[in-house]
Formats: sequence, structure tokens, C-alpha cells
Amino acid sequence: MDLFRLKAHELQQKLFRREVSAVEITQSVLARADKVDSTIQSFITRTPEAALAQAKRVDEKLARGEAVSPLAGIPGALKDNMCTKGVKTTCASKILANFVPPYDATITEKLAAADAVIVGKANLDEFAMGSSTENSGFFVTRNPWDTDRVPGGSSGGSGAAVAAGEAIWSLGSDTGGSIRLPAAYCGVVGLKPTYGRVSRYGLVAYASSLDQIGPFARDVRDCALVLGAISGHDRRDSTSINAPVPDYTAKLESGVKGLKIGLPREYFVAGMQPEVEAAIRRSIDELVAMGAELVEVSMPHTQYALATYYLIATAEASSNLGRYDGVGFGHRGEGSDIVSMYKRSRAEGFGPEVQRRIMLGTYALSSGYYDAYYLKALKVRTLIKQDFDRAFGQVDVLIAPIAPTTAFKIGEKVEDPLAMYLVDVCTIPSNLAGVPALSLPCGFADGLPIGMQIIGPHLSEATLLQVAYTFEQAHDYHKQLAAIREVD
Ligand code: GLN
Repeated sequence: MDLFRLKAHELQQKLFRREVSAVEITQSVLARADKVDSTIQSFITRTPEAALAQAKRVDEKLARGEAVSPLAGIPGALKDNMCTKGVKTTCASKILANFVPPYDATITEKLAAADAVIVGKANLDEFAMGSSTENSGFFVTRNPWDTDRVPGGSSGGSGAAVAAGEAIWSLGSDTGGSIRLPAAYCGVVGLKPTYGRVSRYGLVAYASSLDQIGPFARDVRDCALVLGAISGHDRRDSTSINAPVPDYTAKLESGVKGLKIGLPREYFVAGMQPEVEAAIRRSIDELVAMGAELVEVSMPHTQYALATYYLIATAEASSNLGRYDGVGFGHRGEGSDIVSMYKRSRAEGFGPEVQRRIMLGTYALSSGYYDAYYLKALKVRTLIKQDFDRAFGQVDVLIAPIAPTTAFKIGEKVEDPLAMYLVDVCTIPSNLAGVPALSLPCGFADGLPIGMQIIGPHLSEATLLQVAYTFEQAHDYHKQLAAIREVD
């Protein structure tokens, strides 16, 4: 049996019944990556020795009869913008190509405490800026369903690894859609938690008021397990929420009877691929047939979300990325004096998209433009938040597409940043509002997965998972693993 094909909760059962060992599970996942990663290129750094050593420790614990967590011995991957002590953390940027963090992110510590196995650090768009993983400073990750297409971004390596069997679960970060989009394009489950639910300590900052870490998984139950392992208050992240972490699997089987589902009409944008719209509408009909109640809602400020995001995110990025000066971290360019050294370091270290964002953000924050752009964007952000507050006064969850189309071709949008930005039109509003949103496979168009988005009010993750689980159980999308040619 190919263990790499199973879900975390299935592997956990086998492990607890002592039918397989954690080492066997890990070996299966590592062997799969040996075969397919030359094609898919999910990983920037692989850590097979550390993974096997960790798996061995789990087997020893189990042999001693010690209680272990649900993720114990289950191999997963981390996006390469999450700090791992002693293991390179590059953000897919040349400027951090050799950065080895002296400390662990909180999620890294939590996963270690849960005895999870980490098989590597996954590729991303440089500093998480992008929607296709083509902005990686190193190489492009390919979509396991069609290797001529992008896996989505920016957490493309994390999404592709789970879809291709190179990891059972993974973590990504989502600032404007970077977990949900690759989840949709790769046909797996992805969840952006409530802002503050998961600590950002040790996540390399892109736009701090929007960034949030969350899980990728093969099914909804696994997504709930991983979320439970990484959530919780952290005094090292001042924006972390001090609220108890529920058992996210507890409500999975509660159904959707009586639940009010809102359909925000503004999310069905012009230019949407007809099969994507049809799949979302069909999925909603199914949820209604299962007992949910449908309510049409309007969120009138949705049309301003993209512009608002690209002012706030770039402003925060320009400030966060100021620290990379060739002195404290990473790449240092040659220069005859300190200013030319700074200039060279940054010009050589940052790729074109990151440079574009730093310039846009610096402009939006500069005196004279601050009020017209940055301050205005903050005000519009409040209006967008109020749209959500109003909607959640009427409904329990909102359902919408993740993206207007299925995965696009590699190279199709690289020359046109605005076309790339438009991919996130349906995911960005929930980051601006800080609310949780989940991406769930809900169909295929021409062999490519389609993602449905389920959005809820703050800290409603358990409800999102409940709706997703109910839908998932009526389908077999989660039983399929992308067929990858095995390369010897
Ligand atoms: N594509 C969006 C951007 O480039 C979102 C990225 C993300 O969520 N990290 O900003």
C-alpha cells in the first residue's frame, strides 16, 4: 500500500493500531518526493534525515506506550517563510538565500511539541508576493494536475506538495489569498484562519496587518487537526488572539440544517470562467438540498478591495522589507561606500515584483501622498469590514468562488502584473476584514480542480469546517490525488 496516498487521520489510526510505523510512513512520503519532485519542484529545502530521526522518536514513544498527539509521526511541509532553527529559511529570495534562522517560529515549536514530522521547506513567490509561485527567486513549482500550469501562489509549493503526495499536510501563509488560491488550483483543502488565531512569531513579515498562517490538507478532517495543532495565543505576537482553541473536529458531523448561507453577488465578477461559476452555484444548491437556507447578500465595497489591498500591503511591505540592507541579513552587494552597498545589496537581492511593491508602498507612504493613498485605503478597509459585519448579521457563512478561473498556464500572466493581481479579487476582502475563509474542492473543469470559498465571522473556523465537511462527504474529490508521472 502506498502510505503517501493516505490522509493524516487514516495514517494516525494505522499508527495507533501499530499496523505501520512512523518511519515507514515517512519513508513512503520521502520516496514519493524523490520520484516526483524533479517534475513538480515543491521544495526549496528537503530535510529527509531530520524527518526520519523525528519519525524514529515517535515510534519509540509509541513503543513505550506514551500518549501522542494526532499529528505525531505524520509528515508535513512548511512554506519557506517560516523560521526553522538551523534550517535555511529563504522566502524564495536571493537576499535570504543563505539565511539560517537562529530560532524557531511559534508554529515550528508547536508542531515539534505535537511530534509532527517535517519533510522540507516549500517554494513560494518571493516574500509571498504573487499568485503563481512564478515570482520565486529560484524556480517555478508546477501544478500536479497539469505540469504546464501554475500551482497558484504564493504558497504554491505547500499546495503542490500535498496534492502530489510529497507531504500529507503543509502550512502556508495567506495575506491576500496565498493559502486558498493554491489549495483551489491544486485540489486540496486550505484554510486562512481568523487574523490572530495562529501566531505570526517567526513568520517572515510581508504585510503584518494581513498575514496569517494556516493549513493545507487532503480533506477537511485533516485540516481541522492541523489547525488545532498550530492555533493559540502567543505572547510573542502582540496581535495574537487570547481565546481558547476548540476541538476543531468536534462539530464536523453536525450537518448544515438550518444554517444560513449568504451568496454575495459582487463575488461573481465579470470574466469568470462559466464552469467555475456553475460549479459554485451547483455546490450551493447541494448545500440547500442538505438543509441550509440561502440568502442573497450584497457587499457593496467589494469592488474597492483590490485597490485597497495593493496600497496597504505594499505600504506595509516597503516598511517590513527595509531591514534587508546587506548588513543584518543575507546577501551583501559590493559598494564603495555604505549607500552604494545598500543599493547594490537590495538591487541584486530582490526580484522585480518585490522591487515594484517596495516602490509602490514607499510612494503610498511618502509625505504628500500618505493622506491621499494610505490613509484613504485604511478608511475603505473599514467600509469593507463593515460589509462583512452586516452580512454576518444576516447569515452564518458566505459562499463564493476562490478565483475567477482554474489554474492558468505558466508564463500566461507574468508580463502583466495587473492581470496577476486580479486573480485574488475574491480572496482579498477577507484578509482586509481579518475573517477566516476556507477553500474546498468542489468540481473540475477540463481536468483542473475548482475551489469553493466558505467565509465566516471572526473565530468561526469550526463552522467553516463543519460546512466543508458536510459537502465533502457527499463527494469524492478528496479521495483523488493528482496523477503524477513517476520519474525514476
Ligand atoms: N497575490 C497576493 C499578493 O501578491 C496575495 C499574496 C499572499 O497572500 N501572500 O499580494
